[in-house]
Amino acid sequence: MDMDVVIFGGGAAGLWLLDELTRRGTNAVLLEANALGTGQTVAAQGIIHGGLKYTLSGLLTKSATSIREMPAIWRECLDGQREPNLSAVRRRSNECYLWHTDSLSSRLGMLGAQFGLRVAPQSVSVNDRPEILRGCPGTVARLPEQVISTVSLIEVLATRNRERLFKVDPARIEFECGTPGEVMSIRIGDDFTLHPRAVVFTAGAGNSALRRSVELAGEAMQRRPLHMVMLRGERLPMFQGHCVDGAKTRVTITSEIDSSGRTVWQVGGQIAEDGVVWDERMLLTCTRDELRAVLPNIDLSSVEWSTYRVDRAEGIVPGGKRPESVQIRREGNCLTAWPTKLALVPQLAAELCRQLDDAQFKSQISNLKSQIDSVGVPRDWPLPTVALPPWETATRWLTNDDLSAPSQPAALPKAA
Ligand SMILES: Cc1cc2nc3c(=O)[nH]c(=O)nc-3n(C[C@H](O)[C@H](O)[C@H](O)COP(=O)(O)OP(=O)(O)OC[C@H]3O[C@@H](n4cnc5c(N)ncnc54)[C@H](O)[C@@H]3O)c2cc1C
Repeated sequence: MDMDVVIFGGGAAGLWLLDELTRRGTNAVLLEANALGTGQTVAAQGIIHGGLKYTLSGLLTKSATSIREMPAIWRECLDGQREPNLSAVRRRSNECYLWHTDSLSSRLGMLGAQFGLRVAPQSVSVNDRPEILRGCPGTVARLPEQVISTVSLIEVLATRNRERLFKVDPARIEFECGTPGEVMSIRIGDDFTLHPRAVVFTAGAGNSALRRSVELAGEAMQRRPLHMVMLRGERLPMFQGHCVDGAKTRVTITSEIDSSGRTVWQVGGQIAEDGVVWDERMLLTCTRDELRAVLPNIDLSSVEWSTYRVDRAEGIVPGGKRPESVQIRREGNCLTAWPTKLALVPQLAAELCRQLDDAQFKSQISNLKSQIDSVGVPRDWPLPTVALPPWETATRWLTNDDLSAPSQPAALPKAA
C-alpha cells in the first residue's frame, strides 16, 4: 500500500501533525504503540507558555523568542477561529498566577513588556488575589497563559482523525531500508506492508528505538527526568500558578478535577527537578514544606500525596541542557521530531509540513487526496485508546500521618 506519510507516535506532536497533513490533502496515517499520549503529553501540566519563565534571568533568551508567538495561535485554535478547531478541548484556566516570595525586588510587572512578550504579567492588588495568595508578602501578577487538559486535547485531535489512527505492536513491525534512514517499506506483521514516501517519528522517548530500527543513531535523543508531586483533597482550590524567586520557578502548580470529583494538584518546577534524586517520601516531605513556605494560607490538613516519575524526551543538546526550541532531524526520507514543549507543538507541525513540502520530498510526495478506505487499510484494525492522566493511574497515595510516621527500616535479607 502506497502512503505519503507514515507517522509513528500519537502524543500531541504526532496528532497535531496528522491533523495538519490531512487538512492539506496528504495521505497520512499515524501508528501508535500504546495508548495515545502515553509518556509526556498526559503527564504534562498543560500550560501554554508564552516565554516569561525564560526571561527570569533578565535576558531575552532564544527560548523566549521562539515560544512567544505560541499562546496567540493556541488561543485562536481553542476559540475555534483557526484550524485545528480545538474549541471542544477542556480549558482548566485562561490565566496563571505568578508570585514572588521575596518582597524586596519585584520586577515582575516590567519583565514581559521589557522583552516584547505577548503575554506580559499584570499586577494584582491584594483585594483581587485568590484566597490562597492572600498571605503572600511579595508581588502577585496575573499572566494570560492558558492551561488546558492535555487528555482532552488528545481526545479531540484523535476524534478528528480517527480514520487515520492505528494501534500497532512494535514487536511486529519490520522496516526495510535502502540506506540508513531511507525507509522503503514498513511491514506490519502478516497483515500488510506500507510503502511510505516519508516517515515521521514523533514518539517522544520512543524515537530512540525507532531510529535504531531504521539504522540511524539512537543517541540523537536526551532525557531530562522529573519527579512530579500530586496532591488531592476536597478542600484544595482550583489554582494554576508559578512561584518564582530570582531566575528559578520554585513550584509550578496546576489543578484538575479527578474522576471522583476531588481537586488534584500537579506540582512541578524546581522541586520536581531536585526530587529526581530523592525517594517518594523525601520528595513529599520537602514539597509539603515548600508549599507551606510559598503559600502561607494553604490548608494541607486533609490532603493525600503521591508522586510520579517521567522523562522529558528531547533532541540532544551539548551538556544535556534544555533545547531552546523544537528539534527536527532529517535523514533519508525520515524526519525525527521532538517539540521540546507542548506549547511549541503548532510550530513543530508547521516546520515538519514545510520540510515535507520542500523540493526533495515534494518530488516524492504524491498528494493523492485519497481516502484511507479507498487504499484499503482494514477498517477492523484496532483504534488506540487515550492514556489516563497520572492521578487516575497512581495506586499509592500517602496521608499526612503516613508522612510523619518514622520511616520503616529496610527489610533485612532473609538468612539462607
Ligand atoms: C511532567 C511534565 C510536565 C510538562 N508540562 C508542560 C507544560 O505545562 N507546558 C508545555 O508546553 N510543555 C510541558 N511539558 C513538555 C510536553 O509535555 C512535551 O514536550 C510534549 O508533550 C511531547 O509530546 P510528544 O507528542 O512529542 O511526545 P509524547 O507525549 O511522549 O508522545 C509519544 C507517543 O509516541 C508513542 N510511542 C512510543 N514509542 C512508539 C513506537 N515505537 N511506535 C509508535 N508509537 C510510539 C507513545 O505511546 C506516545 O503516545 C511537560 C513535560 C513533562 C514530562
